[in-house]
Amino acid sequence: MAVLEQLTSQQAIDLENEYGAHNYHPLPVVLTKGEGVYVWDVEGKQYFDFLSAYSAVNQGHCHPKIVGAMVEQAQKLTLTSRAFYNDMLGKYEKFACEFFGFDKLLPMNTGAEAVETALKICRKWAYEVKGIDENEAEIVVCKNNFHGRTTTIISFSNDPVARKNFGPYTNGFIKIDYDNLEQLETTFKNNKNIAGFLVEPIQGEAGVYVPTEGYLTKAKALCEKYNVLFIADEVQTGIARTGKLLAVNHENVTPDVLILGKAISGGVYPVSAVLANNNVMNVIKPGNHGSTFGGNPVAAAVAIAALEVVKDEKLAENAEVLGELFRAEINKYIETSGIVNLVRGKGLLNAIVINDDEDSDTAWNICLALRDNGLLAKPTHGNIIRFAPPLVMNEIQLRECVAIIVKTLKTFE
Ligand SMILES: *Cc1c(COP(=O)(O)O)cnc(C)c1O
Repeated sequence: MAVLEQLTSQQAIDLENEYGAHNYHPLPVVLTKGEGVYVWDVEGKQYFDFLSAYSAVNQGHCHPKIVGAMVEQAQKLTLTSRAFYNDMLGKYEKFACEFFGFDKLLPMNTGAEAVETALKICRKWAYEVKGIDENEAEIVVCKNNFHGRTTTIISFSNDPVARKNFGPYTNGFIKIDYDNLEQLETTFKNNKNIAGFLVEPIQGEAGVYVPTEGYLTKAKALCEKYNVLFIADEVQTGIARTGKLLAVNHENVTPDVLILGKAISGGVYPVSAVLANNNVMNVIKPGNHGSTFGGNPVAAAVAIAALEVVKDEKLAENAEVLGELFRAEINKYIETSGIVNLVRGKGLLNAIVINDDEDSDTAWNICLALRDNGLLAKPTHGNIIRFAPPLVMNEIQLRECVAIIVKTLKTFE
């Protein structure tokens, strides 16, 4: 078999199974092409993408403006490392800082790297600005968080599958319940060594848990009261996904440290970033932190284009309107449904909870049936299915998708 020969789906799956580490359990569908809200498998069948690569392709697959920016830059200069300046990074940093309203940006590549970066900045700020004794800083995190896969990040996960046998773990984290202000304040009050509070504005991987209205505002106020950095992980919720540019914008909260990834590149290239104001970011000095690829000219060109598309095509506004429509339509179905308990979410980050045990395979089987009916989605945990289409979807397409979802769910009644 020649390496570039066109494969059947089964051949492609067999190759991954034999030669790839088994660190994922993909839905059996093999994609070869994407455009906007659609993807196609190697046999030519067309699907609506209702995962959007975990919200990395908010701007739609292969957006011509973003791909165009990438190709143009790739033919000119791809990588200098940060040993030298390049003529794209500064432009991108200024653009993104003005776009999100921060003084400075630190460029990385993946979401997990950006989370690690934020944790390092937070600790250094704790020692050099807040005045916590060396090695005593604690960062408060929430149960059922998902912040990535590095050793430090899984150290404060409570998902046994993500953690087990990867120890010893990194110290310095305190885990409290999500959406619980009492626990947050008690923790701040009883410990003078708290440096930061790391939180997802909506817990995506955990199953799209939307906190009580006012939670983020009050948590930010507590952070101010106790001189603790409010660190928002918007890797999944950011870049228009929830109906605002950032999910914290729903409550007019400005984080001290903002973590972005996924759709900041429109899904065409790994780009992530940490943004903060000078009082925080200035703790980082030459040699403290870095990345060979972070801030490379291709990433800079791609991220500028990806953010311009969000603004030019009013993706946040579209996500807000279509999200309301989606939940309203699914709720109509739920009134008479024995199989779906509820739909929840914000903008176009939504999930349904299936009326079955958490360890049942109903949600998985529903996703297989959705695939057969031309729509790709995946369970987050057990009985929860996330629905997160590209934000370039229009109303006609969304109604078509709702019809596919309802028709499919009815066969499981
Ligand atoms: C996906 C995700 C990450 C990790 O991003 P990677 O690019 O996969 O490392 C971190 N935080 C949140 C909230 C995410 O959804």
